[in-house]
Order: sequence, then C-alpha cells, then structure tokens
Amino acid sequence: MQPIAHFFANDALPLGLCLAATFAASVKLEYAVLPSGEIDRFKINFATLTLGFGVWAAQLIGALSDNALQPMLFSPWTMSLSLALSLVGCAIGLRLLAAAGSDRRRVLAGGLIGLTFLLSHALTLIAAQDLAVTLNPAAAVSGAILALALSAAAGRVPRGGGLRGQTLRTGLLVASAAMIHLFAAWALPPAAPLRQASTAPGLSNVVVSQLVALISAMVVMMSLWAVSRETRRRVLEAEAQHLRTLADAVLEGLVIVEDGQILASNRAFDALIGRRVSHLSEAFAQDVLAQLDLDAALETELLGTRATIPVEIVASPIRYKGAERRAIAVRDLRSRRQAEDQIRFLAHNDTLTGLLNRSSFLQKLDLDLARLRRSDDQLAVVFLDLDRFKQVNDAMGHAAGDAVLRQVAVRIQAQLGPGDSFARLGGDEFAIIRTEDPSPEGLDALCASILAAVAPPIEVSPGRTAMVGSSLGVALFPHDGLSASDLLAGADAALYQAKNAGRNTYRFFDAALARTLKTRQALEQELRSALARDQLRLVYQPQARMSDQVVDGFEALVRWDHPTEGPISPDRFIPIAEESGLILELGEWVLRKACAQAASWSGAETISVNVSAVQLHDNSLPELVHVVLIETGLSPARLELEITETALIKNAPQALHVLRRLKALGVRIAMDDFGTGFSSLSNLRNFPIDTIKIDGSFVHGVDRDEQSATIVRAVLGLGGGLGMKVIAEGVETRAEENFLIDEGCAYAQGYLYGSPAKAPAPASAKARAHG
Ligand code: C2E
Ligand code: CA
Ligand code: CA
Repeated sequence: MQPIAHFFANDALPLGLCLAATFAASVKLEYAVLPSGEIDRFKINFATLTLGFGVWAAQLIGALSDNALQPMLFSPWTMSLSLALSLVGCAIGLRLLAAAGSDRRRVLAGGLIGLTFLLSHALTLIAAQDLAVTLNPAAAVSGAILALALSAAAGRVPRGGGLRGQTLRTGLLVASAAMIHLFAAWALPPAAPLRQASTAPGLSNVVVSQLVALISAMVVMMSLWAVSRETRRRVLEAEAQHLRTLADAVLEGLVIVEDGQILASNRAFDALIGRRVSHLSEAFAQDVLAQLDLDAALETELLGTRATIPVEIVASPIRYKGAERRAIAVRDLRSRRQAEDQIRFLAHNDTLTGLLNRSSFLQKLDLDLARLRRSDDQLAVVFLDLDRFKQVNDAMGHAAGDAVLRQVAVRIQAQLGPGDSFARLGGDEFAIIRTEDPSPEGLDALCASILAAVAPPIEVSPGRTAMVGSSLGVALFPHDGLSASDLLAGADAALYQAKNAGRNTYRFFDAALARTLKTRQALEQELRSALARDQLRLVYQPQARMSDQVVDGFEALVRWDHPTEGPISPDRFIPIAEESGLILELGEWVLRKACAQAASWSGAETISVNVSAVQLHDNSLPELVHVVLIETGLSPARLELEITETALIKNAPQALHVLRRLKALGVRIAMDDFGTGFSSLSNLRNFPIDTIKIDGSFVHGVDRDEQSATIVRAVLGLGGGLGMKVIAEGVETRAEENFLIDEGCAYAQGYLYGSPAKAPAPASAKARAHG
C-alpha cells in the first residue's frame, strides 16, 4: 500500500485544508437554513465558496505535492473551468441539501457533491498539460465509486444533528475527496513520463501552488472565522432564549437593558406595558436610569398604553448574550396600591355613606383655612342634623336608619357644587365646607335646596318609607370665626338656633343669639347637676280665704340658689328646663317633695303644684301622680295641679285625655294665670277645671284701674257661672283685698298673706295668715 503511505507523508496540508473547508461549509449549511425553512442566500453562497474552493484547492495542492519535483505548466482555462465546475456543483449540491427534502434527494445531493469533486479534480489533472496520462481504469472506477458512495452517505446525514452530525458529514465528505485524490494517485502512477519542453503557454506549478494555497487559506480562514462567530452567536442566542423562557414563567415583568436600550422583555412586561418599546425612557414616567444605580427597589410609574401603572423596579446585573447587562424586574404595584387606597379610604371616609369622615373633614377644613388666610377669600361651614332620625331608627330598626342616612347623603350630594366638601361627622350629623362663592345668597339657595331634597319620603326597604327633615346651621369665615374650632362651634350654634326655630329650617350664625344660647346651655348643664345633687328647694306660698283670713292651701314654688350667681328666678330656669326636657325630672321632684310636705301637715290644707305644658303632654303624668299620692299617702282631694291655658291648647285632645285621667284620680285642676292667654270661656267649659287663678297683673292695682277691674269682674262672673272656685293672685294691699271681696272673690294669694317661704309648720299656717 505505497500510495497510502505516500498520502500520509505528503498530504497533511491539503488534508487539513480540506477538513477545515468542509467543516466550515457543513456548519454554514446548517446556519443557512433559517427557522422558517427559508435559505439564507448569503450563507449558502459562503458555504458554496468555502466547500467548492477549499476542496478544489486542497486536491490541487495535493496533486502538486505528489509531483513537486517535476516542473509543470497548467492551462489557466482548464484550471478555471475546473474551479467553476467545483463551485457550481457545490452550489447545487448544498442548495439541495439545504432545501427540506426526502432522504433520497439528500443522498443524490451528496452524490452530486462527490461527482463535482471527482470531475473538477479530473479537470485539474487535465489542466496539468505536461503530464503524460496513463490511466489505470480499474483504479479510477473503483476510486470514483467509493468517492461517490462516501459523499452520498454524507448527504444522508440529516441536518440539525449538532456537532456530531457535522463531524460525520465532514468526515464523509473529506473521505470522499481523499478517495478521489488517493485513487487518482493510484490511477496515475508517478512513474508516468513527463512530456518535456511543452511549448503551450501555462502557469508553472510553483506559482499555482503558492497562489492557490494563499487564496484557499484565506477563504477557509474567513469561513472558519465566520462559522465560529455564528456559532457563538447561536450559543448566546440559545442561552438568551433559555433565559426568556425562564423569564416568561415568572409573574413579574422583566427587561434586559444596556444603556437604557431594551434588549429583551418577558411576556409579563409586554402585557403590563401593552406595546413594543425599545428604550427605558419610553416605558417609565421618569428618568429611572439615573436613579437605578442605587441598586435598591425604586417605586416609579410605568407608562402603560391606557394609564400609568405604579410599579416597583429592582435592577441587578446579568450576563446576557455574552456581555454584562442589567436585568430590571418590574413589579406591578396596582393591587398593593389598591389595598393601600382601601385602607386610606377606610381611614378617611365614612363606611356607610362613603363621605369624608369627621377626622378628614377637620383636616380638610384646616387645610382650606390655611390657604384662605393667605388669600382673604371666604368660606362657609354648614352643619346639618336630621330631624326625627332617632324615631325612625327606634321604630324601624337600624337597617332602616342606615338606609335613610345613605339616601340622605346621596340627595344632599346632588345639591352640592363641585368645590364643596361633604362629610358625615357621625350619627345623623353631616357637614359641608363651601369654598367656592360662599355668598349669603348662594348659601340661602343651598340650604333651601337641601331642606327640599331631604324632606320627601325615603324608601328604606321595598314598600316601607320613612320621613325625616333636616336643620342646618351656617357659619362664615372670617365673619363668624377665624379658627376651625370657632367655625365649628358657630355652625353648631346656628344649627341649634335652627332647631329651636322649629326644625326643618336653617339659620346663619348670630353672635348675640349664640351668647345667650351659650349661657342658656351652661345654665341647663348646671340645672341638671343641681337637680341631681338635690340643690333645688321648694317654698310654699299661702292661699287664704279672705272672709276669715284662714289659710286653706299653699302653692309650692321651686327655688334654685346658684352657688355663684345666687338665686335664679324660676321664670328664667323653668323655660330652660322645659326646652331641654329636664322639666319632667324636675316636675317629678317638685310633685314628690310638695306632696310629701303636705302629707306631713296635720290640717287639710291643699297643696298647689305647677305643672308645665311638657308634663301635661306626657302620657305618664297621671301614673306618676298616682304613684306619688300612694307613696306620700296624700289624699288626692288635697292636691291641686296648676296648668296654663297655653299648655292646654298646644295639643287640646292630648291635654284633655291626661286631664280626665288626673281627674279620675280625684285630683283638682287649676287654671293658672287666667286672663293672660286666650281667656277663652270654651276652654274653661271643655276642660275639667276646678279653680281659676286670676293673674296677678290684673289684681295689682285693681282697686284703682278701671280696665283691670272690668276684667276681674268678668272672670269672677264667668267662674261663678261655671261653679268654679276663683282665686286672685298677687294680692298685696288691703285695698285690693277689699275690692275683691266686694266683687265676690273668696280666695286670694299674695304677699299680703305671705311670701313664698320655707315649709310652714302646720300649726302656724293659720296664725301666719292672720298675721
Ligand atoms: P306662678 O305660678 O304664677 O307663681 C306665682 C308667682 O308670683 C311666684 O313667682 C310668686 O313668688 C309670685 N308672687 C306671689 N305673691 C306675689 C305678690 O303679692 N306680688 C308679686 N309681684 N308676685 C307674687 P315665682 O316663685 O318667681 O314663680 C314664677 C313662676 O315660675 C311661677 O308663676 C310658675 O309659673 C313658675 N314656677 C315656680 N315654681 C314652679 C314649679 O315648681 N313648677 C313649674 N312648672 N313652674 C314653677
Ligand atoms: Ca302657679
Ligand atoms: Ca300664676
């Protein structure tokens, strides 16, 4: 096997060249097929050049080295033809291999490449025109068959087989080329004589081999370089792809950036932003790049297609596609923000109505005031309180109460302007801050519209309605107060005034009124505690029978000695007690005390107790009187309850009902202050009255004043006609007494018989009346 030994001794260079070219072409072939199945023209041409030129050159160099000692001349035309054939054959063969096809087609393509090697090499040998060719046909045929079989097998190697596939394909192709070379050497023995001194023009074998070696080395190196670059690119690409798959699996958005340029993004990020972006500045609301260097979590905003999205971003270094880049993780903060908003909402708003709550209302007022102090604009605070809400709540339940509050909130909201702040302060209290045009006219209109809006029935559940009214109080900045607390107190005072004015109305703050109100309120508080601490006392004023000056009864009158202000007149504190409802408690105390006192007397004197209108309209009064009579053991006939005409007519049917029940107990009823009110005969007739008390204002100076005399005469006539006892109040002089006696009045009360005084000892009653 001398030729084989010869091959290994001389053909290392061409073999290396062939190997490199074939390998580069094989890899390039893989790369030339795009994922879409299309063929990259540039790459396939590059592969063609590498393979066609490389193998052609390797065989030429091999052939030359076999005959290195003999000077030869090559025909340039035949050489060119040989090279062209190699290129064209490889072009077709590689293209066929690249195109997706059946195994058979690829085997044919491989064979075609082998045939190309064979023919081009044959042409090369022919080009060496000085060589005397004596062909050994057996060697030539067997070499050709072997070469074709090997290249066909190379074609059979499927694409995409990785390094192993490429090595196999390379090996087979190189083997095919080597076979051609090997068998050519065998078929054309080196002993063949050379034709000497050819005259034809040609290229010397030295020039050819140097030129070809240079060019082929360049081509193959370029090719290898390109292949290695591409391979590296592909490896990195695969790595990146791997990373992307991983990144797509996470829920957070992820972008990989280089100098702000977005190189890659995951699905979560794409979904978050909703469009393609190539630079960070397109994605974020602010220049995050500069701040990102901190390498800490940064809260910023992502510019989504529809809205900005609050996000948290964290940057970290990452190796991506073979270089150091930055990975930026983007966390969607919307759900966290929502939770935060929810918490904030709960902290700042009333859960029932969604309005501002008390604390945020106060905050808002403070802010507004701080702003207004600089601009000297005005502001109004409106307080609103529902009338009858407590009744609705008690009668229909809390759910109904809540429904009322919600609907009232909606109705009021509809009356407000865009600049108004509306809050529920708690219970059935609401408040409004108006900063835009708080003119009196505008506020008048606002209050009127709120009153009208709240008034209609409110459906609290299907088929059930409730009705509430509202009272409003308005205070103005700076007119009524400069501080928030002054304004709130002002609005509150105005609200109180509105309620006092009969509810379902509104009032603007009135400083003078508020002052009275304030002392009234203070007084009410003090009266309440005085009552609780038993600091009130009763005095008793005798009532005398004028004919014999015998005291047959006493009127109980309440006294309050204020610890700092001294005695306070009942004319002043009784109305306060009536308004605050305290009168019920006070009246009960008076009744119990007076009855107990009277019961202790040995005689049968009557005891007169004043009963206010509020007590008279309280259904439980007869029951109370009954209980007190039993408790004290006082005979009902000795108790006289003094009521006024105005109390009667406030709610006549109710008063009549109570009076009848009182009468049923055996108690007497006196009409107090007669003459000052309606002085109506029908009232006297319609109600079960036993006694008429002529008001002191007519008695005083009755002996000298004709008009008073006429009235007193009329009342005496009226009472006598109805068979009632008539008693004159405020008798201070004998002259008055004499006039009264002359006119037929039997009873009198006044300083003439005794001032209201400490509980009289029963025995002394008579004596004092005489005194
Ligand atoms: P009143 O029921 O008309 O009581 C008579 C008032 O006239 C008493 O005033 C009494 O002190 C006063 N008075 C008695 N004699 C004379 C007199 O000769 N000349 C003059 N100028 N005045 C005389 P007082 O005690 O200040 O009571 C004022 C009003 O307060 C009472 O008028 C009554 O309406 C109310 N009041 C007093 N005590 C009670 C009470 O226990 N319950 C209720 N509901 N009202 C009471
Ligand atoms: Ca009285
Ligand atoms: Ca009176």
